[in-house]
Amino acid sequence: MFEGQTALVTGASRGIGKAIALELAKKGAKVAVNYAGSEEKAQAVVDEILAAGGEAFKIKADVSKEEDVKVMIKEVVDTFGSLELLVNNAGITKDNLLMRMKEEDFESVIDTNLKGVFLTTKGVTRQMMRQKFGRIVNVSSIVGVSGNPGQANYVAAKSGVIGLTKSNAKELAAKNIRVNAVAPGYIATDMTDELTEEQKEQMLSLVPLNRLGTGEDVARVVRFLLSEDAEYMTGQTLHVDGGMVM
Ligand code: NAD
Repeated sequence: MFEGQTALVTGASRGIGKAIALELAKKGAKVAVNYAGSEEKAQAVVDEILAAGGEAFKIKADVSKEEDVKVMIKEVVDTFGSLELLVNNAGITKDNLLMRMKEEDFESVIDTNLKGVFLTTKGVTRQMMRQKFGRIVNVSSIVGVSGNPGQANYVAAKSGVIGLTKSNAKELAAKNIRVNAVAPGYIATDMTDELTEEQKEQMLSLVPLNRLGTGEDVARVVRFLLSEDAEYMTGQTLHVDGGMVM
């Protein structure tokens, strides 16, 4: 499916990003595994891809820092020779009720989850224009559509990602660059492990398909949006949420 194409997946050392990196590699993409935290975990993702006969390397970069992003993208293109597929997955949460949310917690979530998408997309645009080919998927969240108490920073960022997806889709369509988003619901990862049992049960009661999502559930939809099967789609946000928000 992605033979001869290079994919950059941000925040791919674990969780949804890891599942996306493995899925794209399985379908033939050469994968750059971006990480900001554990080098060991990023290396484990690379090793898994290599062991399955794929091509991958890890690259450390903080997506909220323009210089990091520039260096990362140059290294990806220098290593693999092209960059067709970008998945903006890196994200953090710093939840708190509005009155208790500190300015720095608002800013850092916006910086990683929204500015990071802007910087990385800006960073790949020249290369994708040169190739006259680019496929981008941004990982938003269902709460970016519905809102969520205690997550003003996260919701603002994830709503922003949906807006950015539409704006970039319109701006880049003429250059054969498609930009779409996924909005995952309640996906079982390290990020959601931090929730209390009560929060988990409450969320599950809102899921018509009555189970938590998996990284693979999200990865398969990302793969679809990046693939030829979605050639006539751009600017869209697909909910991968077991029916939570319709
Ligand atoms: P996770 O915490 O397991 O993984 C997030 C990844 O992003 C980690 O590898 C982390 O190192 C990386 N990261 C964080 N800050 C970074 C930075 N500045 N630069 C580069 N990498 C950075 O979380 P996850 O659940 O796998 O979430 C992945 C994405 O999916 C996030 O954007 C998240 O907001 C979104 N999402 C998750 C859920 C869920 O239920 N888990 C639901 C909706 C949306």
